[in-house]
Amino acid sequence: MIFEMPSCGGCRTCEMACSFRHKGQFIPSVSSIKIIDKKGEPGYVVSIAEIHDNETIACDCFAKQHTPLCIEHCIKSKDLGQIFKDFIEKTISNDPIED
Ligand code: SF4
Ligand code: SF4
Repeated sequence: MIFEMPSCGGCRTCEMACSFRHKGQFIPSVSSIKIIDKKGEPGYVVSIAEIHDNETIACDCFAKQHTPLCIEHCIKSKDLGQIFKDFIEKTISNDPIED
């Protein structure tokens, strides 16, 4: 699922943080969050994985942790946090999570 994030500076710390959360190492390719360049336009696109896809691991901790590592280490944590709230709302409305 993708979201516009005009305030994102493209540092990709969130990718590193997420890969550390999954693997205990900094391997951005496994991160559930991907930062996509908008090629000349301000801000970046944030992609959050809903399913495992090749090396990418589905996002699985936002709903379980008060402040996941990706948000904790983002300099625009408030904006990224809002994106995750939208992600969870859309995920639940599209495909209810089973107990
Ligand atoms: S850590 Fe925040 S500012 Fe940096 S790339 Fe990720 S979302 Fe953007
Ligand atoms: S909420 Fe957790 S699993 Fe999802 S992108 Fe952030 S650190 Fe990764």
